[in-house]
Amino acid sequence: MGLVVQKYGGSSVADAEGIKRVAKRIVEAKKNGHQVVAVVSAMGDTTDELIDLAEQVSPIPAGRELDMLLTSGERISMALLAMAIKNLGHEAQSFTGSQAGVITDSVHNKARIIDVTPGRIRTSVDEGNIAIVAGFQGVSQDSKDITTLGRGGSDTTAVALAAALDADVCEIYTDVDGVFTADPRVVKKAQKIDWISFEDMLELAASGSKVLLHRCVEYARRYNIPIHVRSSFSGLRGTWVSNERPEQGDQQVEHAIISGVAHDVSEAKVTVVGVPDKPGEAASIFRAVASAEINIDMIVQNVSAASTGLTDISFTLPKAEGKKALSALEKIKPTVGYDSLRYDDQVAKISLVGAGMKTNPGVTAQFFEALSDAGVNIELISTSEIRISVVTRADDVNEAVRAVHSSFGLDSDSDEAVVYGGTGR
Ligand code: ASP
Ligand code: MG
Repeated sequence: MGLVVQKYGGSSVADAEGIKRVAKRIVEAKKNGHQVVAVVSAMGDTTDELIDLAEQVSPIPAGRELDMLLTSGERISMALLAMAIKNLGHEAQSFTGSQAGVITDSVHNKARIIDVTPGRIRTSVDEGNIAIVAGFQGVSQDSKDITTLGRGGSDTTAVALAAALDADVCEIYTDVDGVFTADPRVVKKAQKIDWISFEDMLELAASGSKVLLHRCVEYARRYNIPIHVRSSFSGLRGTWVSNERPEQGDQQVEHAIISGVAHDVSEAKVTVVGVPDKPGEAASIFRAVASAEINIDMIVQNVSAASTGLTDISFTLPKAEGKKALSALEKIKPTVGYDSLRYDDQVAKISLVGAGMKTNPGVTAQFFEALSDAGVNIELISTSEIRISVVTRADDVNEAVRAVHSSFGLDSDSDEAVVYGGTGR
């Protein structure tokens, strides 16, 4: 029996009852002979509430101070959880990210982990304690200031600790039973996936699936740490995310043709109208956007109209970056010489993901047919080897996801997917 790292999200520790329930589960793992390190998120919506509070005293709170404030959310849960475990007669010690050796760069509010030196955690578990670690935070190597890893960052803390401690598995406990073939909040007939490769999981995460963060999966793949995503509310086996296909009997589990359908309503579409169709124009447009530190997603450029020699270029980006992008583009209007800008935040992205599509012709046609049967218009398209994404009207998103899910035979014929709590963020 080795070491397990378990991570509990905000909805699992939303109140005192939740904390006691989680404490029991951790003690179970310890009784089964494991060394246990548990990473916790802030209780319920604490992080949002703290951000609201900060914005009430300052419209743009200073990054360093915001990190100080937000990390207190996870400190509350870690201390309460350690108390609850002690109350069950087991030894537990809580640690901040900094005490746990989570070293980051110095970018406040979205720091990256650059090293983990978990000496104190190792000592604590070797002495027989259960170690509880505050998720989503670290300490900057350069400034020695406290940092946070960006929203949802506790998953990354868990995987990073699992890698540094050479854990057997990283268990991510959440408010659904695992990774589903679609968001169970939208598709009641979504099915739990038993096993999914890092590759497909990365695409799902990049396409808007919120169950695991992209950065966390990236980290797990880099260090080859298997992740078991499961519910803290049920005792069921969840979804394994790993490199190696598990064996079933004497055969390896087949790669599904389609792993799932993801959707994302957090993006907006910018169209640069009337761009002169000559070399260098697209370069100037995207250089301007990149200089504003905006990550863009899908891009299309239309053929230029023969009569005018002008074309339109559309791209998608996070809604939160919309204003910044527009003002960056306004600045280059005189040099690029385009006509106007259009901004549309009533769009949704729907993606079909699966390694099997590499070798199965017709997946794209079937995807588009399913959308057309549902009366959904496609505005942009982009593909990778194992993913097809389209942009549609935001109003159409739920219906579109359900239609595509059925069309690819992903609907379950038995139990409806259970959502135990939380908002699915
Ligand atoms: N509490 C932080 C958030 O809500 C980190 C996390 O939950 O992983 O984003
Ligand atoms: Mg949270």
